[in-house]
Amino acid sequence: MIRSIPRTLLANRRDSGMSELLQRVAAEGRRKDREESKEIEDLDLSQIPSDCARSRRQCPRCEQEVLSEHFESHLTSHSSEILPWLYVGGKRNLDNDKELTVRTGITHVLNLAQEVNIRQDISKLLTEYNTQRGVGFVYKKPLGQTRLFP
Ligand SMILES: [Zn+2]
Repeated sequence: MIRSIPRTLLANRRDSGMSELLQRVAAEGRRKDREESKEIEDLDLSQIPSDCARSRRQCPRCEQEVLSEHFESHLTSHSSEILPWLYVGGKRNLDNDKELTVRTGITHVLNLAQEVNIRQDISKLLTEYNTQRGVGFVYKKPLGQTRLFP
């Protein structure tokens, strides 16, 4: 036997008002879009100089002028200076001759990435650059022959 639902409970479900509230909110949103929204052409930009420059910062590593809002992400494109003589970087840094020479003065590379190798032209350039400075260039890649993890 199925019990009937009390009338008061049915009345409460019908009168919860949620669907009516959602309809009113949607209608108000449409009204605001129609009456209050602005197009860029509707704004008075005459007080803003046409040559108004966005804020920029100079990168201390590469000396490029970088938009201030992009500065933090720009720094991730460079190798990280751990100590004044020690840097950690990725393949893109190993492929960047300026990063390895004039910006950081790298004389030794310890490559721990098995899938990455130094390009021959970069290796040659680093050797020549460092020879002219009276220091050598050493490239080590131990993972080619050494297995660190059993
Ligand atoms: Zn930079």
